[in-house]
Amino acid sequence: MTTQTIVKLSNSIRDAIVKIRPLYKNIQDEDDKIILSDVMSNLIQSQGYLSDIQLSYQQVLDDNETARKRIMQYEQWAEDLSKYKSFRLKSGCTIIIPKEPDSSPYSKEWYCKHCFDNKKKSLFQPELGTITFICPGCNKTIFVTDDELEEVQKFYGTPPSRPIKHIQVDPN
Ligand SMILES: [Zn+2]
Repeated sequence: MTTQTIVKLSNSIRDAIVKIRPLYKNIQDEDDKIILSDVMSNLIQSQGYLSDIQLSYQQVLDDNETARKRIMQYEQWAEDLSKYKSFRLKSGCTIIIPKEPDSSPYSKEWYCKHCFDNKKKSLFQPELGTITFICPGCNKTIFVTDDELEEVQKFYGTPPSRPIKHIQVDPN
């Protein structure tokens, strides 16, 4: 069944109603009038059912389209998954990096594992002046160790410096 078929059927019923209606006033026999009146009621009721079918059919079409889009997204994600792998920094933080054999783990393409597991690609951003990187998607922070810094700096250009921590401010 297609939308066109439903529309054709609906038009046929409407035409039948239009043709039958004028006959009513020409009929003298009361029993015939009742029969004709029943036929009209049935036709009008059928139009109502057809309208329900049309709505349901449209819903099926919409659901189908939604499912099709979802499948495409999953296929795209499966393709993305095949291009990346996990990499564990010395600090113990796990990141997602490209799988290509020649791509260094110390590139700018560091994705957040937490977001990746939720089918989102979110690039870590270096926090200026520190050795920490933050995910803009979920605010997860990761660290690089001192000996990893040099490698990281090759890709980030501006050398991150050690964060200043544990500053005690005397309230007096
Ligand atoms: Zn994240």
